[in-house]
Amino acid sequence: MPDCLFCRIVAGEIPADIVADNAGAVAFRDLNPVAPTHVLVIPREHLDNVATIAADKPELLGDVFNLAAEVAANEGVADTGYRLVANTGRDGHQTVFHAHIHVLGGRSMTWPPG
Ligand code: AMP
Ligand code: ZN
Repeated sequence: MPDCLFCRIVAGEIPADIVADNAGAVAFRDLNPVAPTHVLVIPREHLDNVATIAADKPELLGDVFNLAAEVAANEGVADTGYRLVANTGRDGHQTVFHAHIHVLGGRSMTWPPG
């Protein structure tokens, strides 16, 4: 997907603060953090959202969620806790249509979000 922002980050064409990666996924800091830890974990392969990962490439879910857990540990929030968010579609306010999960932590994540 040549015009996809996150595909271009995976390809190294757009700079990002990459904090971890594995065979199937890459993790980098969100440009507009809303918590002290705010990292995005994405599959290397272009898939539109997490439902598409589950439907078309379920074998990638392990890489994505294992990397999220690794990021949480590296960031020092594994013990204090954190939130994983997958905004999906219009009402979910998904703005980038390359699947990603937000790893949010380092403060109390109030619920419900706005
Ligand atoms: P959403 O699609 O709403 O789940 O969130 C997309 C996220 O991508 C937002 O939190 C943006 O701040 C973030 N974002 C957009 N462009 C970049 C970029 N070039 N590098 C890092 N994060 C980005
Ligand atoms: Zn993409």
